[in-house]
Formats: sequence, C-alpha cells, structure tokens
Amino acid sequence: MQAFEYGLYIHVPFCKSRCTYCDFVSYTDFSLVKEYFEAVKIELEMWSKELEMPKVTSIYVGGGTPSDVDFEYLSEILLEVEKLFALDNPEITVEINPKCSFIEKLAESKVNRISVGLQAADDNVLKKVKRRHSVSDFKKTWEIVCKYFENTNVDFIVGLPAESDLTILNNIEIVRTYKPKHVAVYVLEKENDIRKTLEDEAVCERYERFLQALEEMGYVRYEISNFSLPGYECKHNMKYWKNENYVGVGVSAGGHIGFTRYVNTKDLKLYIKMMKAGKHPYEYYQQNDPFQEAKETIFMGLRIAEGVDLEKIKKLLPELNVRNLVEGLYDFVEFDEKHLRLSKKGMNQSGWVIGEIVRRLNDHRFGMGGDRR
Ligand code: SF4
Repeated sequence: MQAFEYGLYIHVPFCKSRCTYCDFVSYTDFSLVKEYFEAVKIELEMWSKELEMPKVTSIYVGGGTPSDVDFEYLSEILLEVEKLFALDNPEITVEINPKCSFIEKLAESKVNRISVGLQAADDNVLKKVKRRHSVSDFKKTWEIVCKYFENTNVDFIVGLPAESDLTILNNIEIVRTYKPKHVAVYVLEKENDIRKTLEDEAVCERYERFLQALEEMGYVRYEISNFSLPGYECKHNMKYWKNENYVGVGVSAGGHIGFTRYVNTKDLKLYIKMMKAGKHPYEYYQQNDPFQEAKETIFMGLRIAEGVDLEKIKKLLPELNVRNLVEGLYDFVEFDEKHLRLSKKGMNQSGWVIGEIVRRLNDHRFGMGGDRR
C-alpha cells in the first residue's frame, strides 16, 4: 500500500510575555501547560489512527514560544510523534527565543533545524515592542546554536516602531557576520494590510535595501518573505506553499489533508476539553471541491519562486486557460507549460497581483455557472 507524505506542525501557545505587534495565538498564563501537552498527545494519537499510512517528512514546532516551556514537554511530544508515526528522515525545526536555555538538550534530541526570532538587531526597537531579549542575548545564543546546528534560520521584521536606517544596517551586519543558512524577512502589516506599511516610503526603502543585501550575500529569495542559501529552503513550509499534505496539532493549528482543510479552535480551555472528549477541536472545517483546491494551490504557489505546478492545476481545473487568467499582467508574472510564477516585479507587488488573480479565478468560476466565492 502506498504511504502518504505529511508535514506535522505542533503549536506551543505560550509566551512569557506578549510583544506589542503580535497577532499569534499565545497565552502568558502557564497554569495549563501540562494539561495542554497531554491534550496534544491525544490529538497526535487521533491523527495517527485516522490517516492512511502516514509518513512524516517534516516536523515544525512553532508558537508562541516553544523555548518558553520546559524542555521536557517538547522532548515528550517529539518522542510521542516518533512512537505514533513512521518518520522518513524528517526536517525537525523548533522555534526559539534568543534567551533559550536548552539548546544543548535540543541538539541531543532529534531536532535538526533551529529558527531564532531576533526580529531587529536594534535594542531600541526590541524594547519598544516589548521583546524579552537584547541583541547581545541573540549573539550569545547564536554562538551555542552554531556549535550544534548546521541548519539555522533567523527571523526579522521590517516596519517595527522605532526602526531606523541603522536598524537595517545592523540586521544586514548580523546576517553577514553570523551567516544563518536561512533568513525570513516579514513586513509588519499596518491595519492588517502590508500595502499600507509599504506606502511608507522610508520603510519601503529599508525593506528593499535589506532584500538587496541578502541577494548580494548569496541568499535566494525562494518565497516572498523567505531567503536561503542554496539547498536550505524550509522543507516544512514548502508543503504549505505547494498546498501539499500537512497536519496541524494544537490550539489554532491548521491542516490540509487531501481536499480537506481545517483550523483548530484558538480557545485553550476548549481545546483541552475537546481532546479529553476525543473530538476534533475544529473551528473551521471545509471539504474543498476541485475549484477551491485549485484556487488555494494557485494562491499559495504564487508565493514561491518555483511557482504554481500547472500539471496539478490542469488535473483539478482542465478548462482553466492560464493565458487568459493572467492577461494584461505579463509584467508581473511568467509562465510556461509547467509553471506559473511571479516575476521579480510581481514579487515586490505580490499582494495586489495575487489578489487580482484570485479575483479573476472567482469570475471564471462565475462564468462556468458555479457560485461566486
Ligand atoms: S514571542 Fe512571538 S508569539 Fe510570543 S508574543 Fe511575541 S510575537 Fe507573539
């Protein structure tokens, strides 16, 4: 029987304090940590029974701040995954705060990729947004991370309060000096709209300067916000962008299995209660039809430099004419028989280009006599 490949995401929804800009699901009350991890084990077991021949090829432990809970919780969960699923040489990433105190222990476990959230190499910015670490904490931690891990990522955010040109120069210097294999650069969204942030000319210029420096240092922009040295793309995140199979476990985690998409509840207590009752804690559950599946595949696939796999789209939506779909957008997209992707110009204006393509897809659906979505 054929085994199916899955990515596995495990959400750790706890942070010792909240950053001002955060819109992730995380709790500062740690009183339910033990019960939470027991509940996560139940959810893992449920999925291990429900999935057909699952083979896990990537694991991502994110948050929240996984390094804010005791190492034993993470270790137990990873052992549980090993017990329940067939693992196929998985990439195993754990997100850590620069104040993480158990890097050596992570190295002794099967974790093989570390992602450090620095966000800005500027103490004024870090203080302003209430991060709990300084730039020097990052530098000390990085020395230890590098001793044990080859595959590393540093997260940055551009557009944070108190940021200046110097912040970006410092960010560039950090990358030049410490040479992570992977760098993620997000733009802080103003009122949930990246365009509003990028309308700020100074932020836009700083963002472009950072991106240009990364490219000059040999980093390849393989996704709108993600850069890596060749061969160090994040395998787990690629599953999201290629709309492949992944299971999300824990509060607010989402999954995509075949044509099914779900998102778990954000409510910690409800999550624990549902798991104790042996029920999936869905907040959202949707069985996609081929159109919806194709739309999601295009929407996500346009984020990566490799582009959307048009063979996959043809199987889902044989009547779709790609040339018509992108008519008039030729400056912003490139396509051949196999892939549709954003051009460099399109990547820099990805928000509206992808939005426009999705709008046209919806019209196409309308023209075929289906519902407008
Ligand atoms: S550490 Fe991350 S998840 Fe926690 S509050 Fe800050 S931004 Fe949010």
